[in-house]
Amino acid sequence: MESNNRFIKDILIQNKFVFNKALGQNFIFDANLLESIVNDAGITDGDTVVEIGAGAGTLTKALCAKARRVIAFEIDKKLMPVLDAVLFGISNCQVVFKDVMKLSNKEIADIAGKKFKVVANLPYYITTPLIMRFVESHEFDIESLTFMVQKEVAARLCAKENTPEYGAITPSLKLRGDVVITRTVDRRAFFPSPKVDSAVARIDMHNKYADKNIPKILRLIKIAFSMRRKTLINNLAAATNISKDRLRKELIDCGFDERIRGEVLSLEDFIFLSEKLDFAL
Ligand code: SAM
Repeated sequence: MESNNRFIKDILIQNKFVFNKALGQNFIFDANLLESIVNDAGITDGDTVVEIGAGAGTLTKALCAKARRVIAFEIDKKLMPVLDAVLFGISNCQVVFKDVMKLSNKEIADIAGKKFKVVANLPYYITTPLIMRFVESHEFDIESLTFMVQKEVAARLCAKENTPEYGAITPSLKLRGDVVITRTVDRRAFFPSPKVDSAVARIDMHNKYADKNIPKILRLIKIAFSMRRKTLINNLAAATNISKDRLRKELIDCGFDERIRGEVLSLEDFIFLSEKLDFAL
């Protein structure tokens, strides 16, 4: 595999490929790391994998060795000859040269079907919106999402309440899945090296709260964290135009202190409040 990845580097050089920083083009060539990511993602031979951000195809190739089928999205058409060469002869792979952020869920489902595992190593500014989009969608039957994130962001994904890392994303993810940080990845594992260290996170999707009003819970979480240092009452008042007196009464009736802030509320608290608060969000 190592000599194989030397071969991929040579293909990049032959094609005079210039890394595009704005597209987060920091590629992984380390064979052990690539294999570890595929193992972290729990890919088996029955799986369809949607890979987002194929790059030079190093991870794509490692995924193809384990999965039944891989659909890899890549925005940069300059990688076409590279991916053609790197993935030559691999029959269970389809590369789609599209900006995944511009595809609707229906368009993705038309290409990949509804049941798949997601694996993504993307520019970090689109990773969170993309993951939230998959997590919140109901068009797919996604088993898990495995993705590279900045190390500090990984800490936020599974933070405990009332810690600086705990934010809207923490209970929002927990509503749809269990988050595991499988490994940290030193910046030197990428070429070219970025300025930050990374981590691999996996979300195992579940349906524990399928009977709940998920959009209402997500909206409540978003409102509660809209201004982090403000009380829940102040954030709710700003978002709903409901009087603070009424909000205070409802919150106290639910058994909460009127000065409570979003950052101390667990997912269970948000679910409970979303059911008890007697107004639409
Ligand atoms: N998977 C490869 C690896 O691990 O070496 C490449 C990862 S590199 C960090 C991210 C890749 O995502 C780049 O090749 C970039 O062009 C691609 N990309 C960036 N934005 C994208 C988007 N909106 N849709 C699809 N691919 C995108």
